[in-house]
Amino acid sequence: MLKKIGGYGEKAGQFTDISGAISKISNIEFINQNPIGRSSRSNPVTYSKAYDDIRSLFASQKLAKIRAYAAKHFSFNVDGGRCDTCKGEGEVTIEMQFMADVHLECEVCKGKRFKKELLEITFQDKNIHDVLQMTVDEAIAFFMLHNQTKIIKKLQPLQDVGLGYVQLGQSSSTLSGGEAQRIKLASFLIKGNSQEKTLFIFDEPTTGLHFHDINKLLNSFYALLENGHTIMVVEHNLDLIKCADYIIDLGPEGGEKGGYVVAQGTPEEVVKQKKSFTGNFLTEKIL
Ligand SMILES: [Zn+2]
Repeated sequence: MLKKIGGYGEKAGQFTDISGAISKISNIEFINQNPIGRSSRSNPVTYSKAYDDIRSLFASQKLAKIRAYAAKHFSFNVDGGRCDTCKGEGEVTIEMQFMADVHLECEVCKGKRFKKELLEITFQDKNIHDVLQMTVDEAIAFFMLHNQTKIIKKLQPLQDVGLGYVQLGQSSSTLSGGEAQRIKLASFLIKGNSQEKTLFIFDEPTTGLHFHDINKLLNSFYALLENGHTIMVVEHNLDLIKCADYIIDLGPEGGEKGGYVVAQGTPEEVVKQKKSFTGNFLTEKIL
């Protein structure tokens, strides 16, 4: 498919042709459960780009201006304001032979990632470390109280996809695959209505989600659809399947005994097809 619209895929699948309104799609995004960044310094707030605005906010405070701190001083990715000992990681890693690496809190910054003088800069009595410790929910409430709409706009999608409990500065290495997947989804919601109409492919996005959060995920999907994008989901969860416009049921069993199209159509059409296991289970969900 990527080949057809001018991109390139990793490896071509076995097919003879793809037809349909392909010209309406200009981009394809595969939203998998791989980590959002390789560096232990990447985290939800940097990935969502809200951190760019938070850094600027701190740099614009009176004391920061007197000391000539720029936004980059509040970054843990470059030298300047970050702790020199742990390079902004807040911890030091000791490599052990034959054993897993040991992570110890940095003795110089005590896990706060920044130099002492940087932590003296505050916005409404919170320094940059305090902000990174906040959960998404707490941060939205805090910035709402102080009218920081630009920052809220970039944090809101994280809450919308059910990640309100995640800390802004939580290292991406500690996030689950499902959480990483939803952060990627949120980053597309932040971009809003782009001209590039995208086909999003999700691999089992409901993994590990409670019923309440599946509703949040669905609302995020609807937001993408409203922006003119298309979504394709590989999924077993019936609560999500029943909301699809069109279902392709592959089976009849899993693995080697599957791979054939057993039924296809709208949910209402699929439940009428007796051969379809999905259709049988779906009956009670939509009647
Ligand atoms: Zn340190």
